[in-house]
Amino acid sequence: MVPLFDLTRQYQNLKPELDAAVLGLLESGQFVLGPAVESFEAAAAQFLGVRHAVGVANGTDALLLSLRALGVQPGDEVITTPFSFIATAEVVSLLGATPVFVDIEPDTFNIDPNLIEAAISPRTKGIIPVHLFGHPAPMSEVNAIARARGLFVLEDAAQAWGAWVEGESSTESGVKTFCGGLGDMGAFSFFPSKNLGAAGEGGLVTTNDDSLAEHVRVLRMHGMKRRYYHDEIGYNSRLHAMQAAILSVKLPHSAGWNESRRAHAARYRELLGDLPLGFPDERAGNHHVYHQYTLRSSKRDALIKALAEAKIGAAIYYPVPLHRQTVYESLGYGEGSLPQAERAAREVLSMPIFPELRPEEIEEVAQVVRASLVSLLSD
Ligand SMILES: *Cc1c(COP(=O)(O)O)cnc(C)c1O
Repeated sequence: MVPLFDLTRQYQNLKPELDAAVLGLLESGQFVLGPAVESFEAAAAQFLGVRHAVGVANGTDALLLSLRALGVQPGDEVITTPFSFIATAEVVSLLGATPVFVDIEPDTFNIDPNLIEAAISPRTKGIIPVHLFGHPAPMSEVNAIARARGLFVLEDAAQAWGAWVEGESSTESGVKTFCGGLGDMGAFSFFPSKNLGAAGEGGLVTTNDDSLAEHVRVLRMHGMKRRYYHDEIGYNSRLHAMQAAILSVKLPHSAGWNESRRAHAARYRELLGDLPLGFPDERAGNHHVYHQYTLRSSKRDALIKALAEAKIGAAIYYPVPLHRQTVYESLGYGEGSLPQAERAAREVLSMPIFPELRPEEIEEVAQVVRASLVSLLSD
């Protein structure tokens, strides 16, 4: 038995620190914004190398409030990937705008920059690349298109806490720039299973732009600059102080946790590399943080059944690409319209990966995958 992920191990490792942080917060009585949120925001901004980090209620709101700050209006179009969690497109629709889906690159599962130009219309306002599974999206290409066409770039960095690329948007090569600091704005989620997870919901908006940051701070508090004076319709979307206190304990460990994920990914590759499977790629100059370790197999459905029988946690992210979801039927993307995303949805299979995964568990997973695949291929 190997779980897909297990959060109790992380808690056991950090129990004294986490318990003290939660009890300290209870003692403080400051539950809405206040010092716990401010100090987490400062630590997050410093870690990510951005000017501003603004805590919000969850990753979906981080995207939504960013789009509001970037000025998305009803009737606008926003280009994004069809191979993501629904939140990426949902926020566009919530503002009365239309998501325009562009197919993915098969090796990284990220938006294919070569297909973006053709999707731009006079109504296009911006692009939301997603750093899917923790691999940075092709940001230099996306940024170049956006700059040339006057579009915004909002990074969906929900799965990419601690991922970075070399050089990008920095004048010096060899300097690393973190996801969340590559576009105009970045949105993170602290959903418990993300690489940096809260004990509940949480989210973060990042930007190097002072006025965008200020706008998100206003939006998260009912559109209020001065107490009880409201200039625009906002939201109640603040990062909870308890979650901020917990995240402040976890943040200093996050780079090490990502290194463990990378080591586990390397071990999977060592153990399985000779099998006829598709393996996750890490492009030169990119630092993948393996939020998921996602294989591809033409025998995916049978394989996941065999893994379930052997009590190996495995999951499909994502079984239906966004353009083929019922909720987006009216957009008229037929079957075969975005073939790479559709093929990925048929072939992907994510394996157990989390920092505390044990070497013997990785071996067990690999053994079961090998035995199952060999038997499926000989049928
Ligand atoms: C998790 C996730 C979100 C949403 O985050 P929540 O905190 O659950 O609202 C958005 N986009 C992607 C790609 C995600 O994985």
